[in-house]
Amino acid sequence: MDKIKTTHAVIGDGLTIRRALPSARRRMVGAWCFLDQAGPTRFPDGQGLHVSPHPHIGLQTFTWMMEGELLHRDSLGSEQLVRPGQVNLMTAGRGIVHTEDTVRDGAAFHAAQLWIALPEAQRRIEPMFQHYPDLPSLQAGGFNLTLLVGDLLGLHSPVAVHSPLLGADIQAAASATLELPLNAAFEHAVLVLEGEASVGGEMVSPGTLLYFDVGQKRLQLKCGAAARLLLLGGAPFGENVLLWWNFVARSQQELEVAVSDWNAGRHFGRVPGATQPPLKAPNLNGLHLKTEHQA
Ligand code: MN
Repeated sequence: MDKIKTTHAVIGDGLTIRRALPSARRRMVGAWCFLDQAGPTRFPDGQGLHVSPHPHIGLQTFTWMMEGELLHRDSLGSEQLVRPGQVNLMTAGRGIVHTEDTVRDGAAFHAAQLWIALPEAQRRIEPMFQHYPDLPSLQAGGFNLTLLVGDLLGLHSPVAVHSPLLGADIQAAASATLELPLNAAFEHAVLVLEGEASVGGEMVSPGTLLYFDVGQKRLQLKCGAAARLLLLGGAPFGENVLLWWNFVARSQQELEVAVSDWNAGRHFGRVPGATQPPLKAPNLNGLHLKTEHQA
């Protein structure tokens, strides 16, 4: 087990978020290669989250909405509001552009934004967008568990991914205890989103990601009061993955091409009706990126 402190980052017009992945200690959990927790918060009157047009390659963006609403628009012409309990899944593949906006200023907001690295065979597929308005859930031991991705406790998530993966939202309104069976071939991580809980015997609160290596067969969850957890898992990815800005690739050269294509207005297309100017990709400037290998 490893305890990893989250870092902070600023997104949109100034929303401070907790970033759990990637971190210096842990780049990926299975194919999960990015995890931001935005909120829970309430925007001041007249303010919301507005993320200008930006591209992605080589990944799926996975948005899990817990409070508030977010409007997704992309270069395929998709336009989809995601509400609490729903998932937006955008498969970037060879390239896509999107915007994300809250629709009511001054509203409550809590979301997890994750990226899923696409395996070599799928990382250049045609882009697509899927919305999942309903996810399977069950109650056990005082917890309400919503299965986001994969299979757990007899539930199966409809969310379409390209590698063996698990994601679950686990929430209790009061004290609760649950022992979850885990796939021992997966590595796992738990992020406490709200409250405080004992996870595998370790007390954790928001700001810490607990990582469990492969070989773990079960996980004990306990809380004494209201708490909310995010459980992630997956087969170790086993491919060298490079992240730069909003791009996931395998080589520095691929990243440089993506940066120059985007900044020159080539290849990616545009979001119909978007009024904000596109974000500019930062140049690599000869930076030597360390290749991360998870196997
Ligand atoms: Mn994005």
